[in-house]
Amino acid sequence: MRHRRALPWRRTRDPYRVWVAEVMLQQTRVETVVPYYLRFLQAFPDVRALASARQQDVLQAWAGLGYYARARNLLRAARKIVRTGHLPTTAAGWRRLPGIGPYTAAAVASIAFGQDVVALDGNVLRVGVRLLGLQKPSTAPAVRRSVEEALRAVLPPGRAGEFNQALMDLGATTCLPSNPKCGVCPVRPFCAAHALGLAGELPRRPPPRPRPRRRFVAALVRDRRGRVLLVRQPPEGVWGGLWTFPYVEAPSWPRARPALRRLVGVRLERDGTCWSFEHAFTHFRAHFRVHVARPDSSPRRGRFVPPEQPGLPVPAPVRRLLARLGQERQQRE
Ligand code: SF4
Repeated sequence: MRHRRALPWRRTRDPYRVWVAEVMLQQTRVETVVPYYLRFLQAFPDVRALASARQQDVLQAWAGLGYYARARNLLRAARKIVRTGHLPTTAAGWRRLPGIGPYTAAAVASIAFGQDVVALDGNVLRVGVRLLGLQKPSTAPAVRRSVEEALRAVLPPGRAGEFNQALMDLGATTCLPSNPKCGVCPVRPFCAAHALGLAGELPRRPPPRPRPRRRFVAALVRDRRGRVLLVRQPPEGVWGGLWTFPYVEAPSWPRARPALRRLVGVRLERDGTCWSFEHAFTHFRAHFRVHVARPDSSPRRGRFVPPEQPGLPVPAPVRRLLARLGQERQQRE
């Protein structure tokens, strides 16, 4: 308890707050999450407030955190909780809500409701693999099972929340992925990896799978006032519900043009300048080429927004480009 990290979500056992924190912490660093968490709770202080929010406002509060499916699922789950009038109290109950995997379910159930379950995130898995000295890749289901069983066997009844959080902290501050600080580690006497001199080598990882690279073409359409056309992405896409430049998957402008026309409802002519940027999604790397384009009449879909203040939820790479365009616009004026 003395070395417990002082994080805002540690001051509460309110299941809603614990749940929001755990969802934000998936794939995002603690330091990044803190300001988002505080702002999100100000905007949506409880599950009812979240459930009655518009998806656009939730995505706006999430904009910049990435992995937007988390925000959409959070909203869907909140609506389900309010609709059914049932807030789960067990890990099995939380698993039935959209977007909640075994880790998040166990974390919420143990921290908020004291259920005796092990919450196995990446940090805890690494600590477990090292304590047990397991040499197979940590992605093997048998390795996960062994760690879970071993931790369950030593879990102090009624204190699973503290136990899980202590392991998370140990993984985040001491048993680091590389250069673990074994010299100051309180569980060193029980650690097989340390005894074997393998602390820095475990867990073993399978060779990385190359992420395919996909090419996208986007159109930068501006009106006379220098505002930029954004379109809303369909719900099923990786940026579902967010607003972006009109873009399609295509290798070049000529191949993209017919689909872009369908997207904005008018013909677009390329106007020379273009920017490129890359963005890593979970399963692929995306290469975007953004072409300045002139519409032959007023676009029928989308919305023109000032680039320096779009007022809509936009993904981080689009926001960066908008900020640049906004600066250029202000310098011109
Ligand atoms: S002794 Fe080292 S490897 Fe073992 S749990 Fe502690 S920090 Fe991790």
